[in-house]
Amino acid sequence: MFGRAPKKSDNTRYYEILGVPKNASPEDLKKAYKKAAIKNHPDKGGDPEKFKELAHAYEVLSDPEKREIYDQYGEDALKEGMGGGGGMHDPFDIFSSFFGGSPFGGGSSRGRRQRRGEDVIHPLKVSLEDLYMGATKKLSLSRNVLCSKCSGKGSKSGASLKCPGCQGTGMKVSIRHLGPSMIQQMQHPCNECKGTGETINDKDRCPQCKGEKVVQEKKVLEVVAEKGMQHGQKITFPGEADEAPDTVTGDIVFVLQQKEHPKFKRKGEDLFYEHTLNLTEALCGFRFVLTHLDGRQLLIKSNPGEVVKPDQFKAIDDEGMPIYQRPFMKGKLYIHFTVDFPDSLSLDQVKALEAVLPPKPSMQLTDMELDECEETTLHDVNIEEEMRRKQAQAQQEAYDEDDEPHGAQRVQCAQQ
Ligand SMILES: [Zn+2]
Ligand SMILES: [Zn+2]
Repeated sequence: MFGRAPKKSDNTRYYEILGVPKNASPEDLKKAYKKAAIKNHPDKGGDPEKFKELAHAYEVLSDPEKREIYDQYGEDALKEGMGGGGGMHDPFDIFSSFFGGSPFGGGSSRGRRQRRGEDVIHPLKVSLEDLYMGATKKLSLSRNVLCSKCSGKGSKSGASLKCPGCQGTGMKVSIRHLGPSMIQQMQHPCNECKGTGETINDKDRCPQCKGEKVVQEKKVLEVVAEKGMQHGQKITFPGEADEAPDTVTGDIVFVLQQKEHPKFKRKGEDLFYEHTLNLTEALCGFRFVLTHLDGRQLLIKSNPGEVVKPDQFKAIDDEGMPIYQRPFMKGKLYIHFTVDFPDSLSLDQVKALEAVLPPKPSMQLTDMELDECEETTLHDVNIEEEMRRKQAQAQQEAYDEDDEPHGAQRVQCAQQ
């Protein structure tokens, strides 16, 4: 914000919120915030908006750098990020960092800021048949639930103590010396209280959960894979993941993983089926039975006199996959034909075929013309293999050439 004239703006509101004069000392601010924050804490029936304002005002005024900006330019300047600090912190974080945990002696979970528990994601293997017909899978899972005996408090009395390992903050700071004049400071959840900031007196521990607040529970979930669902589609059980105190329970999410089918391939709402005909079937007609995903037998046949060419596709309407949530509508079933040609024919077979097949293109060569031609030999190739090899070779040559200073090899070759 270079060259901007400091405009006259409101720079007293934060002091008013905390009820302190503009020249209040850091000690005065602390006292004022503490008193007002306890009085207005939502857990004690206070107004959450007021509580937020207090935390915000205190956060700004307790930071000398931010306070200076505020005093000089007002609230807007802080919003524009002149403080360098960017966004503001959660009012509950400010509150608990101030008091090192809850000042109300723990146990008050109502109205506390709730963390959201993690979602648990399970892949679920399903067959194409399952997705065609729909299927219900029963899955037994074990999960943590809040202990019923202590309602997730972990103690008989409901009381908890401040964890001595972290002074109730739930976090520990470790310092690593990286060099003679350099240290690295790292913050991590306290191992003694697993980041909760609380500990329970041994004698007061709940006998059912041993103070863990949660117990394991086995639960059977019925997962319904509906007709037409897709590979990768999610089925969510809201709030069925692990329970933990002061936490909104996450979801269990199943992600469908469709197993490969030996016969059918799926593309969206369509199915693809591979079928090989021998040459006689391709030329003279075919009939075969296709067993569908639900076990129905479909009779597939050609029209009289019809010839099927290699690599040809044919389709049957309404025999593809059911459409999700509209299962009476279905995609197409495509059949991809491969024609199996005989490797060789006997001379008699050749004669017989020539008699019935369309004639060869007429191209009569005289003996003299033939004499002028050069003899050649055709041999079998695997064309894909051949092309791959040639490409690799070309790449290698391009690479070698880059290495050669000024194409020395080229000159050499030319001289040969
Ligand atoms: Zn701790
Ligand atoms: Zn318990």
